[in-house]
Amino acid sequence: MDTSWGIAVIGSGPAGFYVTGELFRQQSWEIKVDMFDRLPTPFGLVRGGVAPDHQKIKSVTKIYNRIAENPNFRFFGNVEFGSDLYQSDLLKHYDAVIYSVGSSSDRALGIPGEDLEGSHSATEFVGWYNGHPDFREYKFDLSVKNAFVIGMGNVALDVARILAKSPEELAATDITDYALEALRKSQIENIWLVGRRGPLQAAFTPVEVREFLELNDADVMLEGGSLELDEESQKILETEASKDTKKNIEILTQISLKKLSRKKKRVHFLFLASPLEISGDGKVEKISMVLNQLVKQDDGSLRPQATENKIEEDAGLIFRSIGYLGKPLADLPFDQKSGTIPNESGQVKDPENGNSLRNREYVAGWIKRGPSGVIGTNKQDAVETVHRMLETFLAEKMEAGQNVVLPDIVSLLESRKVDYVSFADWKLLDAHETEAGEAQGRPRLKLTSNTEMLKIIHQKR
Ligand code: NAP
Repeated sequence: MDTSWGIAVIGSGPAGFYVTGELFRQQSWEIKVDMFDRLPTPFGLVRGGVAPDHQKIKSVTKIYNRIAENPNFRFFGNVEFGSDLYQSDLLKHYDAVIYSVGSSSDRALGIPGEDLEGSHSATEFVGWYNGHPDFREYKFDLSVKNAFVIGMGNVALDVARILAKSPEELAATDITDYALEALRKSQIENIWLVGRRGPLQAAFTPVEVREFLELNDADVMLEGGSLELDEESQKILETEASKDTKKNIEILTQISLKKLSRKKKRVHFLFLASPLEISGDGKVEKISMVLNQLVKQDDGSLRPQATENKIEEDAGLIFRSIGYLGKPLADLPFDQKSGTIPNESGQVKDPENGNSLRNREYVAGWIKRGPSGVIGTNKQDAVETVHRMLETFLAEKMEAGQNVVLPDIVSLLESRKVDYVSFADWKLLDAHETEAGEAQGRPRLKLTSNTEMLKIIHQKR
């Protein structure tokens, strides 16, 4: 009996690679993985999301490259689920499918003026400076003086830091040329980070916030002066606060004590404030905010509650950075509120069908659990999904001893004239980008349009 099984993985970000790695670790049967991505390039947010000045984080791709070297692995880039390939195709060609498509949309604030010119999502800005093909054409008016970033997570810090860094600090990174050029001309003087809760509840992590103490071109300050915690937060700090939270408080205290040295720019940390309205004549000119107090909930958490105090500030650019959100996939159930595909330990379930479990469909990463955790969090998440799959579907099939030879996907893609990109093709593009980067002392010069990427691949094949 042939004991090899074919699994399709949709999405080539960290979650997709960690499930693939876990599948290849299985000794009892041979598993073949075909990974699909709608972009010609693999690695998802590692390429399109991780900040360009965080190159060390990107070295995680070495692990993914090793996984891709497995002879049972094939990559099909430039293949879009829902237009080039459908769920029904996958179920015909594979034993099971794992969706690891991440969270490509973002949450809105839902306040007046949010759609004015100059108000953007962090997702758009991050995609733009990282050369994600979907965002390369976006325009950001960096000729303004005041930028506001709403949210206190690591993405908000990335956006604020990229705005605050000097062109020299960014020049050695793989930020796209057009973004570097635009940032070189930036007139931004003030970058505000606005958190609706207090310093203790900040979602960022210590390594990331510490970087603000060392910016060449920007001073950093805590609005309101000294770091003061409300009584409940102080109690939490002294009792159950995590190591990271304690470190955050230490660093924020250092920020509050730091002397301002008249650098070109200034980063303002503003806690306990929520935007109420963005206003302006056709474009962003002002932001009004309400100051909050924290109120203890029945579950012990501290939530923001508006006070009577409001403030208004001049603003030219606003980035909302209040969390990513998953998008629905054709023929799969979807939970609008959490932006995830409903699942039980990674096995897709249909809430509209009595929560019945789908035996051949699984999820991993942010589309499974929502946009939380760091890259490494997806490793454990992948283990859970793969083991769930092995316990249910694959084990069942092994026992039954059935194994139908499934048709190869390549014929289908060719019949549909899909110009797919293999991993070897990507390596050609990768070499092209890194060689171009080396000439300028940079990690790589990214190509940002699918057409340009495919052109280089066709030339080099
Ligand atoms: P996040 O960590 O969930 O932070 C979201 C922030 O938005 C929180 O401060 C949250 O405040 C705030 N927020 C949510 N709804 C809001 C509203 N309606 N009004 C005002 N503020 C609101 O999300 P993220 O920054 O997008 O990051 C996503 C994940 O990627 C995180 O796990 C993050 O650590 C990770 N990441 C890591 C790195 C890194 O390691 N260097 C870099 C980037 C991203 P509340 O707490 O009050 O809800």
